[in-house]
Amino acid sequence: MDFYVSWSHSDALYCEYFTDCPILISAVPDNKNSLRKFKKLPSRLMVDSGAVYYVRKRIPYTVEEIFERQLLTAMPVLHQCPVTFVHVDEPLLNKVTLVEKYGAIERTLINAYEYMNLVRAQNIGKDSNVSILGVIQGYDFPSIQYSIFELKRLGYHKFGIGSLLGRSMSEQIQFISWAAEIVGAKNLHVFGVTGVPQIQAMSRMGISSFDSSRPTKMAIYHQVFYSKPLRTYVIEGSRIDKRYQKISAPLYCNCPVCQENPMDLMNLTHRKYTKVRSIHNYYHFLKTVQPFLRKEDDVNAISNVLRS
Ligand SMILES: [Zn+2]
Repeated sequence: MDFYVSWSHSDALYCEYFTDCPILISAVPDNKNSLRKFKKLPSRLMVDSGAVYYVRKRIPYTVEEIFERQLLTAMPVLHQCPVTFVHVDEPLLNKVTLVEKYGAIERTLINAYEYMNLVRAQNIGKDSNVSILGVIQGYDFPSIQYSIFELKRLGYHKFGIGSLLGRSMSEQIQFISWAAEIVGAKNLHVFGVTGVPQIQAMSRMGISSFDSSRPTKMAIYHQVFYSKPLRTYVIEGSRIDKRYQKISAPLYCNCPVCQENPMDLMNLTHRKYTKVRSIHNYYHFLKTVQPFLRKEDDVNAISNVLRS
């Protein structure tokens, strides 16, 4: 199983610190040229549509516009690492009634048809390094089954399941296992996972990959992870979050940033320290989920000497 870290233009450059670092990036305007600043490219790239962003900001979009933006975003690494393009779904976000939810599923399938036509016109789907991923939507077993059946009919072989936020852990695992049963776990990516128990369950099922923004989000909220076991602390002086135990001095840590200046972790004054915390959090999150990933070897950080 591969772990893609969700990445946006203002986030820490994870790939420069870790040898094997798949990333997921959304095709939103600010991310368009951001892979150009990477000195070291990701080991795998997934580009999703950013549809959630457009819906939240009430920005109208067309499937073609987003597809073009996805191609532009991926351009610096195309032919250099495995790239997955995610079709433009209609998020179930804010869809409350059954009619609204069904409408979103239908819209997602219409988009899937248009998207596959664009892929075929550009001839990119034939590249062995490129995968096209259809987004499964559904709110129960029959709707998931219907969504998959239609996506397969349109020519999709790889699938992603999202819209799991807001559901209980057991519901999330149930939805993932329904989808995995129909498409085959090795063809399934799970979007936006935060919980370690879910990651463990997905690993047992043989799921292909998942993504998480947890290391970055926690850093923004002034939180730091330590692994073995995974613990969360909130930095003394933070007014953002009061749920976790406070920490005022860094603990011993082997991550690339703490090896340089561990006190940076505690600094709440500037955005550059959020990036430092993100790298530290990624290291410990990765250490925690490493036993569930495909590769059994330990977390490989790039040494500070090689990086500079
Ligand atoms: Zn550290």
